[in-house]
Amino acid sequence: MTARLPFVWILNPYNMKDISIREAQAQVDEWIRRVGVRYFSELTNMAILTEEVGEVARIISRTYGDQSFKKSDLDKDLGEELADVLFVTICLANQTGINLEEAFRKGMEKRTTRDATRHLENKKLSPNPPTLSPESDQ
Ligand SMILES: [Mg+2]
Repeated sequence: MTARLPFVWILNPYNMKDISIREAQAQVDEWIRRVGVRYFSELTNMAILTEEVGEVARIISRTYGDQSFKKSDLDKDLGEELADVLFVTICLANQTGINLEEAFRKGMEKRTTRDATRHLENKKLSPNPPTLSPESDQ
């Protein structure tokens, strides 16, 4: 039987400084084994991911959109909800054998290559976007 580090090791803020994606995956896996017992099934985690994205959407729609906050929503924190999305995303990566660091690198490379000039050429993103008129959409 392997010796178990006390769980406070994981919560030590010095262990959380500048963690890589690889380290985050390892910490989540350690947490699941020590505290969470086992991973929820992939289908359950997919449902939880959807739920957490919904919580992010709720805050965004009330902060930047037209909806107003209900009293029960006032204590909601965008950073906390984004971290919940990250946690369950890491769970899904871990349980399906995905190296998220490698996948992230590949994704950035793909975006950089594929979109090398796309956004630079997008007039809607320029500091002085063209005025759109109904005729210009046709
Ligand atoms: Mg949440």
